[in-house]
Amino acid sequence: MLLIPCPYCGMERPEIEFRHGGEAHVVRPPDPSAVTDEAWTDYLYFRSNPKGVYAERWRHVSGCGRFFNVVRDTVSDRILASYRAGEPRPAAPVEARR
Ligand SMILES: [Zn+2]
Repeated sequence: MLLIPCPYCGMERPEIEFRHGGEAHVVRPPDPSAVTDEAWTDYLYFRSNPKGVYAERWRHVSGCGRFFNVVRDTVSDRILASYRAGEPRPAAPVEARR
């Protein structure tokens, strides 16, 4: 089980308190009518699925209820960083405090 650090509550909590929200930093095209069907389909349906470091959204459903982002290594399942929604992804994720 993952221990996920919520940047709003300021503590690590078990994974069962959270809900996964998919890939982080997916940007909606500002004018959907101006993009091609292929670009719109990419935005709606296609996400990266890397083997390695990945930024993803989580929601603390049994805690503060807020969305935030986590950088996780999908190979080791270790969380490298967590940060508030709207903040940029850390350039060089540092090991999360344990
Ligand atoms: Zn929280």
